[in-house]
Parts: sequence; C-alpha cells; structure tokens
Amino acid sequence: MFNRILIANRGEIALRIIRAAKELGIKTVAVYSEADRNSLHTQFADEAVCIGKANPQESYLNISAIISAAEITDSDAIHPGYGFLAENYHFAEICESCGIKFIGPKIENIKTMGNKTEARRFMAKHHIPIIPGSKGNVASKEEALNTANKIGYPLIIKAAAGGGGRGMRICHSDVRLLSSFTTARSEAEAAFGDGNVYIEKYIEAPKHIEAQIAADNYGNVVFLGERECSIQRRHQKLIEESPSPAVNKKLRRKIAEYALRGAKSIGYSNVGTIEFLLDTKTQKIYFIEMNTRIQVEHTVTEEVTGIDLVKLQIMLAAGEKMPSKTEMTENKKHAIECRINAEDPEKNFIPSAGKIEALYTPGGFGVRVDTHIYSGYSIPPFYDSLLAKLIITTKSRSESIETLKRALSEFVVEPIKTTIPLHQRIVEDPVFIRGEYTTHFLDRFLEERSE
Ligand code: ADP
Repeated sequence: MFNRILIANRGEIALRIIRAAKELGIKTVAVYSEADRNSLHTQFADEAVCIGKANPQESYLNISAIISAAEITDSDAIHPGYGFLAENYHFAEICESCGIKFIGPKIENIKTMGNKTEARRFMAKHHIPIIPGSKGNVASKEEALNTANKIGYPLIIKAAAGGGGRGMRICHSDVRLLSSFTTARSEAEAAFGDGNVYIEKYIEAPKHIEAQIAADNYGNVVFLGERECSIQRRHQKLIEESPSPAVNKKLRRKIAEYALRGAKSIGYSNVGTIEFLLDTKTQKIYFIEMNTRIQVEHTVTEEVTGIDLVKLQIMLAAGEKMPSKTEMTENKKHAIECRINAEDPEKNFIPSAGKIEALYTPGGFGVRVDTHIYSGYSIPPFYDSLLAKLIITTKSRSESIETLKRALSEFVVEPIKTTIPLHQRIVEDPVFIRGEYTTHFLDRFLEERSE
C-alpha cells in the first residue's frame, strides 16, 4: 500500500480523496493555487504545497509543478480526481516515469478511450453497439456530406478529444452541416488542442445511462450498476440517480454485458464509467464514450452498493485484488444526487462568485453532503462552479424524492446564487417524478418557465 498520496485537484473531490486515504492510514499531500490558499483541502491534508497562480494552466494543470511537489514530499502516488489532469495520458506517463503511481487505469486505456473515435472503433469491434455515424474522424466537408447521406439528419458533430459536454453541434440540413463543420473543427482545436471531429446520428429523445465498473490487475472486472444522468444543461449533468427509473432487469443485464465486455477487451484496470445513450423511441442502447476516472456522480453508486469507490481506486492502484463482495447486490436502495452550483438559474446560469456569509447544510436520515465550502469561504472565480453535492439515499425512488425536497428546503448558501431553487422546482415536476425525462427535459423545463 502507498505511504503518501498527493492529490492533484481541488474542491470537493480533493476532500473526498483525503478522507478515503485517511481511513486507509495513508498520509496525504494537498496542492493548491494562490487562489485556494484558504481552501479546506489544504487544511485537511497532512501537508500542503502551493503550486502556482490561480489560472489552472499555472497550477492544477502545471505538470512539472505537481511532479516537483510529489518529489519534495516523497509521495509515492498521485490521485488526479476528475477534470484537470485526470484523463491526460501524458501526465500519467510522466508520473510512471518518475516512479510515482498514477491512481487510475493503464496509460494505454486512457489513451484509447480519450480519443472518442478510437473508443467507438474499439467498442464496435467488440460487438458493443455504437450510434450510427462516421467510420472515424471526418476530415473534409465532402466526407461530412457523404456521412450525412448515409445516416440522414439530424446528426451531431462531436470533437474526438471532447469532454465536459463542449464542442458538439447538431445539424438538420446540408447547409447547416457545411457551415458548422469548419467552426466545429476550429472550436475543437482551440478547446482541446485537437481539431479532429466525428459525426453521429443525433438521437432525438435519449436518456443518458452509464455503467460503473471496477477492475483489478488480475482480470477481475465487476459491474456496479447503472446511473441515469439525463437531467443536463448544455450536455452537462445536474441531477444523477441510481438505479435508473428506465432500466429493467433485462436492460440492466445488457448494459452489464456490454460494460464488462468493453472493459475486459481493453484489459482495463481501476474504476471507470462506460456511457450509453438509450433511445427511448426504440429502446436501443448505444455506447457513447468511456471515462477512465472517478466521476462526480460516483457517490450515488457508493450509496446504493455500500462500496467506497475512492478507497477501491486506491487499493486497486496499489495492486490489491478485487475484494470479495465488490458487487452490485439486487437494488434495495435508491440514490439521487443534485449538483449545487454557484450559478444563477434566473440569469442564464451566470457564475456567482464571492464570500459565503451564511451556510447551512442539511442532514438527517438518508442525507449526505459532499462539499468543500464553509461559512466565510470566498468562492474563487477561476474554477468550475460546483459547490456541493447533495446525495439522498432511501429504500425507494419516491421516498428519495420526498427526502430530497425536505433537504433542499433546508440548504442555505447566502448570499450566493445557486442551483438550489431550480432543483426545488425540478423535483416537483410530474415528468421528473414519473422518471420519464430525457436529456431535453431541462431545456424544455426552462423554456416553459420563461414563456
Ligand atoms: P462529453 O464527453 O463532452 O461529455 P458525450 O459524448 O459524453 O460528451 O455526450 C454528452 C451528452 O451529449 C450526452 O449525455 C447527450 O445528452 C448528448 N449527446 C451526445 N451524443 C449524442 C447523440 N448522438 N445524440 C443525442 N445526444 C447526444
């Protein structure tokens, strides 16, 4: 087992990793930017090292500063969390070449799955259904038109190196395809340093369903249930739940089969998520991408399975075998997570920074709050807007919704504008309550309310 882990991240996930490491008896090192000097992760870790300026390029994405911090503190492993360097295989390579264990999958796994066209090709080769689309990257307008001829409209142009819901363009006609193609490529180049794009058929009423898997270095791979993450804004998740109200036993078996086959075929190790879209019109399920890291919404899986996924990540990276009973027991629980973001839903979700004057986090039966904020904390304007994750777990979905309503009504983050009032309205919506929502739910919900 490791002696000391450096956490190359900030916010709630840095705290989450520090807590898991502490419980395993491992020392922790926090790194922080000048803007995060007063962040809780710097105080909860055994040591903290400043790695640069507020701008992420100069701190949380600054590979040499992070590696130096690991070497100075004699850390034998680095946990990247999510975002920042979590899916950067170059970073994983540098860690390994410096004799520091990267807590995540093998470098080749990150590389293959990080390229979405490669990932599509890989899954198709192993008979996992992918959304009809281009064979690989689409290099010219001519190729784009050929693909459109084959699959028909609507279609979606996506960045091969894409992530975070950015750089996707929906097209309904040749004219739109031709005008979007060049901009999509230059946007992808600017955002991800890779201008390659590919095309998929645009599924008009999908649900986002993802499979949590875990694998050790000895070929043992387990499926830990699915999560539904269809409540999204601009392709970014806002509410996640497990199990999905749309998945019955038969569909779950199919998801498990695809996820396990995909992970085994690539020789995957550590925890990972295989994402699918479920076409609610045809009930067909298609692979969209694999995330080779811990996800924000891992918590709902933890709650329904009783498995600490961050501890599991650390243990698997240290070379331990998959513990017995790491499995999804027949679902006896239901968990829902709301992302509490510092954004104003009334003003097109503009970020809300500033000092938190009053904070009250809900508690009681079935309530978990993962957060790095505290009363007196100043939210820096440089990073993502996630302030807290409110996770509710009870025996059934309907009970979880009732507890969620109660917990949301207790939550106070003053004077910051947050997504709490929006969540309060969503959980009252009949479509949400029936579990019949698709990825378009939130856009329609917001449109209807602004009319
Ligand atoms: P990212 O890596 O940027 O998160 P994904 O491929 O995981 O991108 O897709 C994010 C979201 O975008 C999906 O959950 C879904 O809402 C939407 N999306 C992606 N591909 C399609 C598609 N072919 N048809 C309809 N919606 C899609």
